[in-house]
Amino acid sequence: MPALKPRILVVEDEPAQREVLIYNLESGGFDVVRAETGDEALLLVDEERPDIVILDWMLPGVSGIEICRRLRLRSSTRNVPIIMMSAKSEEVDRVRGLETGADDYVVKPFSIAEMIARVRTQLRRTRPATVGHHLEFRDIVLDPETYRVTRAGALLKLGPTEFRLLSTFMERPGRVWSREQLLDIVWGREVYVDTRTVDVHIGRLRKALCKKGGDDPVRTVRGAGYALG
Ligand code: CA
Repeated sequence: MPALKPRILVVEDEPAQREVLIYNLESGGFDVVRAETGDEALLLVDEERPDIVILDWMLPGVSGIEICRRLRLRSSTRNVPIIMMSAKSEEVDRVRGLETGADDYVVKPFSIAEMIARVRTQLRRTRPATVGHHLEFRDIVLDPETYRVTRAGALLKLGPTEFRLLSTFMERPGRVWSREQLLDIVWGREVYVDTRTVDVHIGRLRKALCKKGGDDPVRTVRGAGYALG
């Protein structure tokens, strides 16, 4: 099972620009999904559930601005960070890009280092564990870089699946996750796993978290799923 690799959807029609960007993002430890058109991008966001979208403004067919607007209207993608890239450098374009709902706007040509820095800035806000940030919830601390979890200072033993479940919970304390959502995020969409498997691993996670004392922080929400706290 891979580590907590963030998934990026790159939407760019120009092959050379697209491949250079993808090559560098993959070298930087990101899992990259590519789309060449806006229509393809709209299909892939549902299939691949990227953590962030890098979107070219000028695309054949549906423009980047229109894609951005549509992603903001869908509940499933409303909160996914979008970095818009464009050769347009006018202030008015930048403002228009951000007004449409993009979180950031990068003018071509840009340096790869700058793009990666901007991607990390967005992920720090939405998926902090994927960029190596400590997560804390009450007396529980999770370090995604060393794979260590402690509770009240005591080191806990968690399997890889329980670790991913816990990091998902800790990124959004209080949020209720359905079994299907947890399957998508923790196991991935290509893997066929029964939703009851989620219950089994939640049971293991609870046991591991309470092994050295403390209350069970995982809440079962009847008919909905699970939440932390
Ligand atoms: Ca283009």
